[in-house]
Amino acid sequence: MKHLIVGAGPAGVIAAETLRRVDPGSEIVLIGDEPEPPYSRMALPYYLTNRIDEEGTYLRKNRQHFEDRRIEVERDRITGVDAGNKVVKLEKGGQRGFDRLLIATGSHPIRPPIPGMDSPGVHSCWTLEDARNIAARAVKGSEVVLMGAGFIGCIILEALALRGVKLTVIEMGDRMVPRMMDQTAGNLIKKWCQAKGVGVHTSTKVESIEPARKGRLKVKLDNGSMLDADLVIAATGVRSNTDFLKDSGVKTEVGVLVDDRLQTSNPRIYAAGDVASPFKFTHTANALGRMAMVNALFWGRQRASRLVVPWCTYTEPELAHVGLSERQAREQGLEVATLTVPFTENDRAVLDEEDGGFIRVHLKRGTDRLLGATIVAAHAGDLLTYFTLAMASGRGLGSLAQAIYPYPTQGELIKKVANLHLQTKLTPTVKRLLGAVLAWRR
Ligand SMILES: Cc1cc2nc3c(=O)[nH]c(=O)nc-3n(C[C@H](O)[C@H](O)[C@H](O)COP(=O)(O)OP(=O)(O)OC[C@H]3O[C@@H](n4cnc5c(N)ncnc54)[C@H](O)[C@@H]3O)c2cc1C
Repeated sequence: MKHLIVGAGPAGVIAAETLRRVDPGSEIVLIGDEPEPPYSRMALPYYLTNRIDEEGTYLRKNRQHFEDRRIEVERDRITGVDAGNKVVKLEKGGQRGFDRLLIATGSHPIRPPIPGMDSPGVHSCWTLEDARNIAARAVKGSEVVLMGAGFIGCIILEALALRGVKLTVIEMGDRMVPRMMDQTAGNLIKKWCQAKGVGVHTSTKVESIEPARKGRLKVKLDNGSMLDADLVIAATGVRSNTDFLKDSGVKTEVGVLVDDRLQTSNPRIYAAGDVASPFKFTHTANALGRMAMVNALFWGRQRASRLVVPWCTYTEPELAHVGLSERQAREQGLEVATLTVPFTENDRAVLDEEDGGFIRVHLKRGTDRLLGATIVAAHAGDLLTYFTLAMASGRGLGSLAQAIYPYPTQGELIKKVANLHLQTKLTPTVKRLLGAVLAWRR
């Protein structure tokens, strides 16, 4: 069997490794169009803060890794798919045959149609090449404008702040992380940024960018103000890489259309990762890459819709979320009950001076079924695991009140939210009865 995987990011690499484990005799070819060995985009902020070098971004550090597993890695770009004849066309010429094809081509940054976007000094932060360009201009004291304060924007923001640049963030939404976080969380992040000296303009758009003297830039905002910059970074959203599927018969919409088992409209072709998922995260790419291959070989039992997908931005503080937001839950016609507990109620957070955030959970009203949870805190990503585990194993919020949590830990606040829920379950009648029982026992 010949397996061909297009795209050498996390989804493609995990898929290739999974295949090798479950199908030792097959031929596996991994084709990617970037010049570097397979690397992780999420490592770029660490590269920008000099915590790792370029090699530190590589997905597999051992140079023999792919060869040892008989995975052929080829640098080329797929320009078309002839699904009938089971071949892909290569940019360098010629074609490659397949029995099974996995599309794992990820996404690319959207360049908003703003005059001056192609000026030197305007970059995305998507590839290693982008990161090199950013590192060259984002030196201590330089002026940097970041367009977009979404998930990726916030991650880059933190890295830029650590490089000691004078940073201004422009976000057209009315808050930071507008599509993923509610007003409270968005405002909290804005306040934190401002306290660090980062300028934040929400409800503001960049109107144009003009080259200025000595390689600098002038950035005009729609409120009439003008900013000087040595570097402009665009983090204004992404779009799936599907162009090469034109005329292939494989159906696409905003990404590759897949069923719940990650099969495309062609039963020989699967898709995984950013290119086929609304959850554009490394851990989702990993999970889906693995799932696609298991399904392709073993008549597909695993379902993408069963995944509970958490995410976290490793900013200071971290923003972490799993499940539905209140708005999403209401859009699905669900009645929501929301509980919020601030970290000022947690002794460990107060001791560590990390008490500025909160935990918020959304429950299906009248039940303890967790619909979603948001944490804004220094260790939000780790703490979120409690809720993710509960949701993935079908347990309600009440189950999190059953365990004993060591004191003093920030995890104790999880129990506090769960207890808060249990208290709300006490109806006036139950409270009256309990009161009567206690009075009698005295
Ligand atoms: C700065 C930054 C920070 C991030 N931080 C986080 C984080 O903290 N946590 C998190 O979960 N996620 C993070 N992400 C998102 C994460 O990197 C992506 O969700 C993940 O890379 C998706 O993996 P993928 O394999 O689907 O796609 P990609 O990693 O994009 O890999 C796809 C590969 O396919 C190649 N390709 C595309 N078209 C073709 C073609 N026609 N022929 C051949 N090859 C092709 C692409 O060039 C690319 O190399 C971050 C992203 C960025 C940019």
